Amino acid sequence: MTKEERYKQVLDYFDKNVGLAETELVYNNPFELLVSVILSAQCTDKRVNLTTPKLFKDYPTAEAMAAASPETIFSYIRSISYPNNKAKHLVGMANMLVKDFNSVVPGEVDELVKMPGVGRKTANVIASVIYDKPTMAVDTHVFRVSNRIGLTTNAKNPLQSEKQLIKFIPEHLVPKAHHWLILHGRYVCLARNPKCEICPIKLYCKYYEQVILKQNKQTTVTLNINPKRYGKKTSKKIGEKTDEKSS
Ligand code: SF4
Repeated sequence: MTKEERYKQVLDYFDKNVGLAETELVYNNPFELLVSVILSAQCTDKRVNLTTPKLFKDYPTAEAMAAASPETIFSYIRSISYPNNKAKHLVGMANMLVKDFNSVVPGEVDELVKMPGVGRKTANVIASVIYDKPTMAVDTHVFRVSNRIGLTTNAKNPLQSEKQLIKFIPEHLVPKAHHWLILHGRYVCLARNPKCEICPIKLYCKYYEQVILKQNKQTTVTLNINPKRYGKKTSKKIGEKTDEKSS
């Protein structure tokens, strides 16, 4: 299967069967999404969604958050990973948003990454979700899943992965593909134990072809070359006498 065919099959499957895929973060405006994405680094969306309602109620705008101290913001986000750094980043981000961007979340990746706590992944999410731009945010799920399926080859870091994906995915599908790959990684292609046997795209997956099918073949060969042993083990009938004393 060529790379183009693999992309086509995988994207066709997701397009027909998943369709619209959206972020699982709960937000009401670009500012809230930006705050949520910053908080979601190395933390689950579920945990972020539990934390943000009170934070957004008390600090609903960039101006309000810019006027707060990192210590105060920390008290709202203490259950999230790296709360100290993230509290500082949120206050710094809000200040820059007010001073340099007139309190409007910018749509350009180059501008977004200037703000504290906003890396390339976060910037790509904002550009894609808020401004519908063809930017591919590569998080741990997208990186792993793309590599396993064979959509990327020898990508050493998220940027390499992003460049390869952008090259092959049609522009209009990029924002959706980002969410398709995340959801697939979160629920099927798990980091430690991918659910390959029930995976709906296994026929287009390089890992399935090169690792799982090979393992299955080896198991069959092993069983075939030990027929007696295999027969002995399975020939005992239920109720047959054994050497063990029955009570
Ligand atoms: S077949 Fe396995 S490795 Fe491939 S995408 Fe599905 S779950 Fe992931």
